[in-house]
Amino acid sequence: MASVALRRLSKVFDGGIQALSDLDLDVRDGELLVLLGPSGSGKTTILRCIAGLEEPSSGDVVIGERVVTHDAPGARDVAMVFQTPALYPHLSVRENIAFPLDMRGVADAQVARRVAEAAARLAIASVLDRMPDQLAEGERQRAALARAVVRAPQAFLFDEPLSRLDANLRIELRAELLALHRALGATMIYVTHDQTEAMTMGQRIAVLHEGRLRQVGTPEDVYLRPADVHVARFVGAPGMNVLQGRGRGMGEGGRVVEAGSLTIPIELNTYEGELQVGIRPENVGLCAVDRGVGNVDVLVVEPLGSETLVLLNAGGQRLVARLPGFADVRVGMRVGVNVDRRRLHLFDAAGAPLA
Ligand code: ATP
Repeated sequence: MASVALRRLSKVFDGGIQALSDLDLDVRDGELLVLLGPSGSGKTTILRCIAGLEEPSSGDVVIGERVVTHDAPGARDVAMVFQTPALYPHLSVRENIAFPLDMRGVADAQVARRVAEAAARLAIASVLDRMPDQLAEGERQRAALARAVVRAPQAFLFDEPLSRLDANLRIELRAELLALHRALGATMIYVTHDQTEAMTMGQRIAVLHEGRLRQVGTPEDVYLRPADVHVARFVGAPGMNVLQGRGRGMGEGGRVVEAGSLTIPIELNTYEGELQVGIRPENVGLCAVDRGVGNVDVLVVEPLGSETLVLLNAGGQRLVARLPGFADVRVGMRVGVNVDRRRLHLFDAAGAPLA
C-alpha cells in the first residue's frame, strides 16, 4: 500500500474545458478518502489521472515515493472499480478474478489461492463458475471488487461503485467495503456524489466544486465547519440553506441580517453590508406567525416518515426545514420561522466564511 499525492494538478480538455485547476491533495497510506462533489466537478477526471487513463495538462501524480504522471496505467499498480462493473463477458467469474494475476505470470497454485481468498472476502465463492451475464447486479459488482482486491494494488480507486445498486444492497456493500478497508489496511480513494456514502465511509472527505478542492477534512469538519458556501450547500442532504442578506447595526440591540422576509439576530459585531447566511435545515424551526424571526409561506411538504422536509418561501428566498416525524404543516400555510443564532453560518458576498 502507498500514499497518493496530487501536486498542482490541472486538466484542460480539448475545447478548453478546465476540468481540474491546480489541485493539491495528499491521501495517506492506508487512508479511505472520499472525493465528493456535484456532477461535472472533476471527480472522475481525478481518478483517471491517478490511474493513468488521462494525461494531466500540468502538475504531478505521486504514488508512494514515485512520480508516475507519465507512466502507463499498467506501471502504476492501482486498481480502479467503475460504476458499471467491467467484467469480460466471455470469461467465468473465476477467470475474471484471476485475469490480472494471469497477466502478471503468477503461478497457478498461487492464483487459485488468491482467487479463493478474494472470492471469500466478497462473499461470491458460490458463483465462481458462472458467467457474468448469469449474475445479479450486486454479484457482478462484488466480482469486479474481487478482481481489484486479488491484485493487492498500491491503491484502490472507486468511481461510484455502488450507485447502480438498490438501496438495501448499497447499505450492505457499503459496510463490506468498510470492512475490506479495515482488513486490508488499503489506501482507497472513493468517488461519490452521495452524501450518506461520503459521511459514513470517508475518514476524510475532499469536497470539489468546479474543478477546485474547496475543503479536505473529517466528515464532522466539512459538515460543521464548511470552508466556503459551496461546501455548505453541497454537504448534507438536503444541504445547508444559504440566504442572501445584508448585515445591519441595531444600535443597542446588536446586529441583524435581513434576508428576504427574515430579520435574524447575529453575534457578529462588525459586519456591515452584503452577506450570506447559512442555516442547516435541522436548525430551522416553525412557529406561529409573528413569533419568530419572520414569516414564510409553505410551498412543499415532504413527509418521509422519520422526518418531514418543508420547502418555504421567505420573501423570495428558498428555505428548507427538516422537522421530526409527521409535521403538522400544509401547503399554502403562512407560518413563523425560528432559528438558533448559535448555529448560523455567515459568509461574505464571495462565499468565504466570516468569523
Ligand atoms: P459525474 O459525477 O457526473 O461523473 P465528475 O465530477 O466525475 O461528474 P468529470 O467527469 O471529472 O466530473 O468531468 C469534469 C468536467 O470535465 C466536466 O465539465 C466534463 O464535461 C468535462 N469532461 C470530462 N471528460 C471530458 C472529455 N473527455 N472531453 C471534454 N470534456 C470532458
